[in-house]
Amino acid sequence: WEAPDPDLQHPGGFSDRNYDWSSEEEEYEKKAQPVQVLVVKDDHSFELDEGALNRILLSEDVRDKEVVAVSVAGAFRKGKSFLMDFMLRYMYKTEPVDWLGDYNAPLSGFSWRGGSERETTGIQIWSEIFLVDKPDGKKVAVLLMDTQGTFDSQSTLRDSATVFALSTMISSIQVYNLSQNVQEDDLQHLQGRQSTPVLELKIRRGRLGMKMGGATADQRHPSDRTSSGTTPGIWQIGYGRDIPETISDQTTACTVNVGRSCTFRNMVDVTGPISSAASVSIAFMSLIFLVRDWSFPYEFPYGAEGGSKFLEKRLKVSENQHEELQNVRKHIHSCFTNISCFLLPHPGLTVATNPKFDGKLKEIDEEFIRHLKVFIPWLLRPENLDVKEINGNKITCRGLVEYFKAYIKIYQGEELPHPKSMLQATAEANNLAAVATAKDLYNKKMEEHKHQELKEDSVKLFRGVKKMGGEEFSRRYLQQLENEIDELYVQYIKHNDSKNIFHAARTPATLFVVIFI
Ligand code: GDP
Ligand code: MG
Repeated sequence: WEAPDPDLQHPGGFSDRNYDWSSEEEEYEKKAQPVQVLVVKDDHSFELDEGALNRILLSEDVRDKEVVAVSVAGAFRKGKSFLMDFMLRYMYKTEPVDWLGDYNAPLSGFSWRGGSERETTGIQIWSEIFLVDKPDGKKVAVLLMDTQGTFDSQSTLRDSATVFALSTMISSIQVYNLSQNVQEDDLQHLQGRQSTPVLELKIRRGRLGMKMGGATADQRHPSDRTSSGTTPGIWQIGYGRDIPETISDQTTACTVNVGRSCTFRNMVDVTGPISSAASVSIAFMSLIFLVRDWSFPYEFPYGAEGGSKFLEKRLKVSENQHEELQNVRKHIHSCFTNISCFLLPHPGLTVATNPKFDGKLKEIDEEFIRHLKVFIPWLLRPENLDVKEINGNKITCRGLVEYFKAYIKIYQGEELPHPKSMLQATAEANNLAAVATAKDLYNKKMEEHKHQELKEDSVKLFRGVKKMGGEEFSRRYLQQLENEIDELYVQYIKHNDSKNIFHAARTPATLFVVIFI
């Protein structure tokens, strides 16, 4: 068994690349490919393939690396997977400038196709995690996620919005792929009133150490206003648009690490002692609106700059807008740390309509390619790869698995999750990730310790046996014994590593808390 070499060059392109990984019981070899980790089934239930997630994110070379999770989300048939395949080309590049590759080579990776039939709503991830050196020398793990939703009927809207919310929570960079424009509907989906309460979290500045359980200092706040601050401190967290007083126990206090402009409306008061409140940072990270087939370049030119101006206009809150429209806009601003927009031209009729089109660059419009060459590095160049942070902590691949599981769990219930369970899930995932890391350390140390002890015993045994040839002659064999024991230990660790991690992940969070209090 050989660990994959992250620095390996892939001269044959990614389709030729073989990828080794270890699974729970067996070791086998697989080609890098998209893996469906989340499926929304016909009965609207969510199914997470934990095995696949574990295999990919807990493999030895990546699990302790901080993770950059890049997600592309949006409706079907809008060229997401097509785009992701270019992201793959960039990640597998052997040439720093000419990463687009052969103009005659068909495009492969995430499956994309013409036609209008539906695909599974859910999340696919690329089975290979890329190790990238940041400019500061740190190696980070880059995960690519392809997310699909339908957004076409009431019954599927909720599923799609949930998938969207989940991928937003899990990713550090969310690319929201849209066709032609940013419509009011698209913004509404983002806010997801009906189905993505996670994006409904709102914050209000509270006062540190104030008395809890009744009136709070902030009752004076008008119900709808914007405030900005840069001081970290205890903030109150609320939820939803029309919170009746009766659910006030579902709000909780949290520490906000970065003060940003935020909107609050219909806030309810924090009840319960602040010390028992979950601590969570509610800022999602980057949101990038990617507009495909942009057709007004004379108004707003293609690219990031045109996109930024366009978005500014689109997200502008003005007095004469309907209150509803204003709220959506304020809300989106309050949910993400960075929001940007990129306008891409139409790729040409062959791409859009020819069923035989297989992704060859030579059949794609020049102008599209020109802007693609700007967009992909803009998104993925090492200095722009932001590590996923939750609650101010940088998350490793191992941690991400825990968040994935915890967040899924709350969406698996019949009811829409409320903020309390979001916070609980975050806290639980937090703790589970810590358990897994600590247990891994324990196992390593334990094994190392045992290894040292047993090695000494073995050496003693070897010395104790009467041997011919004298001391000098025997020393070589002693050396051989020591080498072989060390080798056995390395094998042993390798064999156990993948196993331990799975068990650690199943330890209940409460156990951890009790132990450390
Ligand atoms: P996904 O469902 O969003 O992942 O979409 P796919 O990547 O599978 O692409 C669906 C179809 O759209 C394919 O036939 C592509 O050739 C085509 N396509 C890809 N990119 C674009 C684009 O930027 N504009 C248009 N109009 N079509 C595109
Ligand atoms: Mg797709």
